[in-house]
Amino acid sequence: MRFLFELVGWFVLWTLYSYLIHRLAHVPGRYNFLRYCHLKHHGYSYGESMWPPIADYFFWFGSWRGSLDVYITFTLPLVVLAIVKPEYGLILLAFHYIYEVFLSKNVLDHNPKITGKITRFIPIGQFHLKHHRNYRCNYSFYLTIWDYLLRTNEEAASARRVRKLAPKV
Ligand SMILES: [Zn+2]
Ligand SMILES: [Zn+2]
Repeated sequence: MRFLFELVGWFVLWTLYSYLIHRLAHVPGRYNFLRYCHLKHHGYSYGESMWPPIADYFFWFGSWRGSLDVYITFTLPLVVLAIVKPEYGLILLAFHYIYEVFLSKNVLDHNPKITGKITRFIPIGQFHLKHHRNYRCNYSFYLTIWDYLLRTNEEAASARRVRKLAPKV
């Protein structure tokens, strides 16, 4: 039981890390290396197939920038965890591999058919696709909670926009 509890704890921490890196990757600036890599994610053409390209099986995501984006945002902290606490790190690395290769493209994250209640809790389908339309919201991966807690969900982001545009009195 304790093991499961701690595993979930590391998982949640990992989702927070990926959220923060993703937010940093959208800070404008010519010298933002994270942004330089992450723009490949936003420029990626997902096509129709539900199956990943062959290179994905080898954890190569189309380009060095696209691959580094994944390595920095997700893989790196898990490799560190696997060194320090292999019993948790290796399980999360296995999850990360399966999710990234088989689910992160058209199956879950970028599947426009996934709508409704589930996207309020898990940032897949419409939730993540909104981020592709508006860089200022919906940065979370795996759990939407960070966008709601840190006020970067779509509603909060558009409310901020309205306040910004409103004339000051
Ligand atoms: Zn992004
Ligand atoms: Zn995406």
